[in-house]
Amino acid sequence: QLSLEQVVEHIRWDEGLVPAIVQDVDTREVLMMAYMNRESLKLSLESGETWFWSRSRQELWNKGATSGNVQKIVSLKYDCDGDTLLVEVKPKGPACHTGAVTCFHNEIIGMPANEAGQAGTEESADSSTASSSSSSAQRRFEVLAELESVIAERERERPEGAYTTYLFDKGVDKILKKIGEEASETIIAAKNKDNDELRLEVSDLMYHLLVLLQERKLPLDDIMSELSRRHERPRRD
Ligand code: AMP
Ligand code: ZN
Ligand code: ZN
Ligand code: ZN
Repeated sequence: QLSLEQVVEHIRWDEGLVPAIVQDVDTREVLMMAYMNRESLKLSLESGETWFWSRSRQELWNKGATSGNVQKIVSLKYDCDGDTLLVEVKPKGPACHTGAVTCFHNEIIGMPANEAGQAGTEESADSSTASSSSSSAQRRFEVLAELESVIAERERERPEGAYTTYLFDKGVDKILKKIGEEASETIIAAKNKDNDELRLEVSDLMYHLLVLLQERKLPLDDIMSELSRRHERPRRD
């Protein structure tokens, strides 16, 4: 915890500017990079919102002032040699002026570790490697993996009153019956062009599919690998 004067001394101000990386504190996504000068750093600290120096417009810039997509600062850090800032924020909306959540949405090339299904890359293309370059899409898919482990825990521990316990107690036929029902309800929601309903029904269906996979001891990862194999470049967004 340093005062502004102390912080300013620790930073290497090349031509009066320091790059500031902005990261979403919740999703951990890197949102954007922009430059701060002493004044914008001061304004950021005082207001609790991100302020930068726009090199193209040669002016102080409160991110979101026109778009409304301001960024509430949760923490501000400088790196080991003081030449970069890291700003953790809770963003009100997309960071990029194109409307994308993150400015980093132009993938230059699919790296080998991202090319699932190719000979010899399977071990390295595991979930930890994949999440190190995680897009918001990948982050969301991690929710499925978390759900899978909760379901596995329910099967082991059978906590009383849990719906998942009930399904495992009833057995595979009950699970299959539920999948049939939820699939039918999914079809009806889609036919009704009701996306609120569709969201709920597809969620129900996916949950019950995960319960089935657990019952059959088929890892979700095997499904993900199979889906990846069907695409040449599975991790494009
Ligand atoms: P905003 O700060 O979101 O109100 O956007 C105001 C202007 O700032 C935009 O029209 C862009 O010119 C610029 N801008 C906004 N966000 C970015 C960004 N992430 N990177 C570069 N320029 C931006
Ligand atoms: Zn940029
Ligand atoms: Zn550095
Ligand atoms: Zn952008």
